[in-house]
Formats: sequence, C-alpha cells, structure tokens
Amino acid sequence: MPQILTVLGARPQFIKAAPVSRAFAEAGIDEAIVHTGQHFDEGMSDVFFEELEIPKPSFNLGIHGGGHGAMTGAMLQALEPLMESKRPDWVLVYGDTNSTLAGALVASKLHIPVAHVEAGLRSFNRRMPEEQNRILTDHLADVLFTPTDTATARLREEGIPDECIHQVGDVMYDAALYYGRLADARSDVLSRYSLTAGDYVLATVHRAENTDDPERLRSIMEGLDEVAQQDMAVVLPLHPRTRVACERYGIQPRYTQFIDPVGYLDMVALERHAAVIATDSGGVQKEAYFHGVPCVTLRDETEWVELVEMGWNRLLSSRFELRDALLAQVGVAGSKGAPYGDGSTAQQVAEYLLKSALRKACDLAP
Ligand code: UDP
Repeated sequence: MPQILTVLGARPQFIKAAPVSRAFAEAGIDEAIVHTGQHFDEGMSDVFFEELEIPKPSFNLGIHGGGHGAMTGAMLQALEPLMESKRPDWVLVYGDTNSTLAGALVASKLHIPVAHVEAGLRSFNRRMPEEQNRILTDHLADVLFTPTDTATARLREEGIPDECIHQVGDVMYDAALYYGRLADARSDVLSRYSLTAGDYVLATVHRAENTDDPERLRSIMEGLDEVAQQDMAVVLPLHPRTRVACERYGIQPRYTQFIDPVGYLDMVALERHAAVIATDSGGVQKEAYFHGVPCVTLRDETEWVELVEMGWNRLLSSRFELRDALLAQVGVAGSKGAPYGDGSTAQQVAEYLLKSALRKACDLAP
C-alpha cells in the first residue's frame, strides 16, 4: 500500500482534503497528515476536522503569522526533517497556499514524488501570492491533477509533459455533493442569524488585493451596506485577515451582518439559500454554481473562467456599482454543463496513486 504524506494548513485545503482522505481510507491507502498550522483556531481549522471527519493530523507544525517569507521559511525548515525521516511514496498538496508551496518544494528537493490537486489554475495576476504559489508548485509536481479543460490546456502550454497531467475534475464538487445533502438537515444557521431563504446576500472577502487596499475594501463594504439598507439582508462571515483590515482602516458597516467564520455545513446552508453570493473566494465561486446560486466575484479576474462564460458568475472590478451588479445577478441562471467532472475526483486521485504504487512495486520486484 502506498504511503501518502499530505501537507495542508488552510481552510480551503481542509475542505478539499475531506473527500480525498475518505477515498484513501476506502482504498486502504495509508495517509499521514501534516497540518502546518497556517490556519489554526477553532473556527478556521478544528471545526472542519470534526465536521468533515478528516483524520486527525499526525503532525502539527504550529506555524502561522508573520510575512510570507517567515512563514514559508519556517515551514520548509520544519518539513524537511519530517519528510526525510518518513520518506513517503508521495507527498500530496492542495491548491495554492504557502503550505502548498512549502510541501512541494521540500519533497521535490528530497526527490519524493509530489502530487498536486487543483493544478493548472491561473489568474495571470502575478501579484497574487496564490498565483506565485500555484505556478511554482505545478512546475515542481510529478503528477498534476487538474480540475478543468482550461487548467489542463494551461499546463500543456507551459510545457508540462502530457503524462504528468491527469484531468480528474474538481474535488470541491465531490465535497459539495456529499456535504450539500447533510447541510440542510444539520444546519440551523438561517434561523440563528434571522435570515429568510432566498432573501439575503451571502458575502465573503479575504483576498489580499481587497483587504490590503483600503479604498477597495471600503468601496466593497459600502456597496454591501447599501444593499443591506435598501434591498435585503447581507451576511458576511468575516475572515480574520479582513477583520484586522477593517479595524485598521476604521471600516464599520452599519447594516451588513458581520459574523464569525462558520463551519462548512453552515456555510453550505448559507450558500444554498442565498439570493446571490458576493465573494472573492475561489472556492465560494464554485460552490455558488454547485448549489445553483448566481454569483458576483469581487475581483478583476478569476481562475474559474468557465463560470463567467456560462453566465453563473460576473466579475466586478471596483469601477462598477456593486449594488447594481448584485441586484442584476439575482435570479440569473447560467447555461448547463459539467465543467468540474462528475463528483468522482477523490476516487480517481486515490486510484491513480494506488496504481502507481503497484507499478512501482512490480518494477522493484526481482
Ligand atoms: N468557508 C467556510 N466558512 C466560512 C467561509 C468559507 O466553511 O466562514 C468555506 C467555503 O465554503 C469554501 C472554502 O471555505 O469551501 C473557501 O475558503 P477561502 O474562501 O478561505 O479560500 P479560497 O477558496 O479563496 O482559496
């Protein structure tokens, strides 16, 4: 059985890992999880391990805060001896955070094969830390699991050999299918926040391009506040980075409901019943589509271009009126399609890694 060392550390990675870890357990694959500590508290980390039944991390590096260099450097330093002693068959990384890059870089230098789930995504905005992380990780990885045709085409254009690219669909679709069913049964989030199904905006804001630019953050929050005052409730689970930024810039909405980050089942329930979603999150853009809810993306570009092409998502650069865009998007249904696979992504990842270990064992057999 192959031994997988999974490196993760941030909220979206817990959600991506949940279906894959379950598929590993079903396939009898031995997985050890390293939690870097990038997101570390109850609301940003523990709740996901409990609710999504992700195996408890075998190692917790407790690394968070500081600049990108300090954080990534500390991760490199801590991961190297750990990987050297474990020598797994694969190191598995997800997405585009500092934890992703650190895991891929250490493994690659130790000549341990790297598998990257959610490979090939590009925003073409090199100022984004996520873009830097994903480009570097893709070019270090040995197997690149892509979610979409666009991602696959991008890697080919960048010269990644065809045999390293495996289009498996989007693991977040697996999660949406599995947990979507549970969310309605288990979550009472709408009544907790006095929200009426179909009559509120769900918003999330956390990208550095929004939180680090006071003008931009202010204009988003003012736009949301206008909707909350004039049209319908706006609920915004506040990412810790955004909370700090709002405090620093003195931004205090009067009508929008700022709430603490919520667990995944609550989040899915909030998404499923929103009239429209406003977000700068990659994951939330897709979840809006998975649950059939129109979305306005609070960015100039998106990695998930299919959703814009299909009409489910609309990009809103800061030049336009947020309120008008949100109200115009309510009730919009884009075209049908299956750009993110069929919900079997996690199973395909597990099968691939299992087969590759069997091949290796045969090659090594006398
Ligand atoms: N999410 C959550 N609770 C929240 C906000 C987001 O469970 O309060 C989930 C959301 O449903 C999605 C993921 O976190 O699955 C997205 O993470 P985030 O927006 O932090 O990162 P990104 O997707 O932009 O990388």
